[in-house]
Parts: sequence; structure tokens; C-alpha cells
Amino acid sequence: MIILTSFQKSKKIQNMINIPDSQVYSVARWQPQGYSFNELLFLSATDKYGNKLLLRNFDNPIEDYQKALKEGYKVRWSEIKRWLDSLDEEKHIVLVCWCPYSISTQEQIKHHNNFCCHTGLIGKMINRHRPDITVVLDEDRDKYLCKEWKPDRYITTQSLLKEPIQKTIFEVINNAK
Ligand SMILES: [Zn+2]
Repeated sequence: MIILTSFQKSKKIQNMINIPDSQVYSVARWQPQGYSFNELLFLSATDKYGNKLLLRNFDNPIEDYQKALKEGYKVRWSEIKRWLDSLDEEKHIVLVCWCPYSISTQEQIKHHNNFCCHTGLIGKMINRHRPDITVVLDEDRDKYLCKEWKPDRYITTQSLLKEPIQKTIFEVINNAK
């Protein structure tokens, strides 16, 4: 299971489902002060040259940013593929980004009532390449992530609260039968 959330909500989610710091990874280019999670820099929002991607630099941000990130991921694909192959449904990991708590994401929400975060595109990639791994979105992403970048299949952290985690594991076992 992979949980997509922000630095700001990471502690709350870690406490909720008992995930140690060692299983939390930053997919941002740098971390806010006071955070020092392990980093998966190959998943960060950089293009094929390693330059940072900013929505405001594109005329059609939703399409063009996505395209530039895809090209970046293509260049880093051997690392990404190795990481995707290593995922284990029963080992829960958390990926964190600044969104939606950076100033620019706050602006997006104010003007568009949604935000675009590359963690959504990571979720889509997991849907596609590792359909056996459950993607979990935090409440912010469930409510406000732009629909183009939302994984097709996901559950929410809220549903994890309602259903005991064992249920998910039972479902996995039953599906495997
Ligand atoms: Zn983000």
C-alpha cells in the first residue's frame, strides 16, 4: 500500500496506521525545515535535464507539465522501474510532498478550487505498472487534486480509519485465492 500525502499531514497518518519514519519518503526536491525523511529524488518533479518543473512556466500546465515530467521519468526509468518492482502491498509506505501547503498550491486552490500535485501522477503510474498495489490518497488529495492527475483507482485515508487495516489484508488474501 502506498499513501500519498503532504509533509504537514505525514505525522497524523503515521500515527493513524503506525508507520515508522523509515517508511516515509520525500518525493519533493527539498524538504521543509524540521523534516529529514529519506528521499526518492528520481520521483521528484524535474524534467529530463533535472530542472525543476513549475506549473506557472507552462501555457497548458496540466498537459505540458505532465508531458515534461513523463520525459523526466523516462530518463530515470531504470531507477523508477527498480523501485516499482520493489513495492510490496503488505509493506506500507508513505510518499510526501509540500502540496497543498506551499504558497503556490494555496494560490491554485484559491483560483481553481483544486491543485495539481505530481504525487497524483505517481499514483497513476502505480495504478498502471503495479495494479496490485493499493494507492491511498489523503483527504486533501481526495477532495482537491485536479481530476486529470488523480489515480483511477484509489482509496482514502478516511476509509482506512473506518475499516480496520486487517480488512484490507484479508481482501488481499481472498483476492489471491
Ligand atoms: Zn506536490
